[in-house]
Amino acid sequence: MQLSNLPTFQLGLIGYPLGHSLSPKVHTAALKACGLEGSYSLFPIPPEDTQSLKDLLARVRVGELHGLNVTIPHKQNVIPLLDELTPTAKAIGAVNTIYLRENKLIGDNTDAAGFLADLKKFMGDGRLGNRELEIGKPALVLGAGGSARAVVYALLNDGWQVSIAARRVEQAQELARQFESTKAIELNLSTFKPSNPQLIINTTPIGMTPNVDQSPLPENITLSKDTVIYDLVYNPRETKLVKDARAQGLSATTGLGMLIEQAALAFELWTGHTPSRDILRTATDN
Ligand code: NAP
Repeated sequence: MQLSNLPTFQLGLIGYPLGHSLSPKVHTAALKACGLEGSYSLFPIPPEDTQSLKDLLARVRVGELHGLNVTIPHKQNVIPLLDELTPTAKAIGAVNTIYLRENKLIGDNTDAAGFLADLKKFMGDGRLGNRELEIGKPALVLGAGGSARAVVYALLNDGWQVSIAARRVEQAQELARQFESTKAIELNLSTFKPSNPQLIINTTPIGMTPNVDQSPLPENITLSKDTVIYDLVYNPRETKLVKDARAQGLSATTGLGMLIEQAALAFELWTGHTPSRDILRTATDN
């Protein structure tokens, strides 16, 4: 078959700012790994620039662009500009993936499935040694912003008992109200004592480059040896939270796997092709 007969996928990311995004590397590697023609572009659109958002979505409508990812600050802003949300995007209240189906602009969310896929991979791939986690144990989510919504949604669907801790307890309460069967607690970083959760997930940006010596947990906290730590922050590759947990002998991971999974799931929605996660992970190393 001639290369020119293959479909060309024009993909991209809407957000602001986008300078350090790993998505172009990941999706360019996905296109190559699947033998597809195309490109992945960055579309930095300032928070208030609704007209540019509309113009970009119009390009998806006419088939000029085949798929878009959405990140901060537009995950909610795009919702009124779309024709339909998937049940997942609706439940989370945020969109990270856009595509056209039957002439309708659809808003989807792959963050929740991406997080859960990577969490399960992490819990099940031997890095936990002989410690088997039982689904249904208590989980504590630190932070109650955009990514916390996807994480809470994913955990509840997977049968976890979820508590949400935030420095502004009213933000945690709002999230807890939205998702029944969750509990909100105030996160005071200096006095915070988690009540032995099985799983702690950091969804705050604490510890992200350049603040690599910060952790969302207090300095000398001792956690139960069975606690598993999942830090959504992936820059640096080993955060202080993860380093401290590992020093206590706990299983801990950063969020690079989630980043790759959510990207791969979006790519599958756009192209119908399944890229190798290992190839995508390698692409983020270069
Ligand atoms: P967000 O919507 O701004 O939410 C951040 C949350 O953290 C809010 O509850 C915020 O509270 C809280 N927070 C911020 N600074 C804090 C501090 N110093 N002390 C206590 N709480 C603090 O951000 P997001 O979109 O959820 O992203 C959060 C982090 O997750 C970022 O580092 C992002 O890169 C990472 N992330 C990773 C992935 C992945 O694929 N691995 C996906 C999404 C996000 P206030 O509202 O009070 O500030």
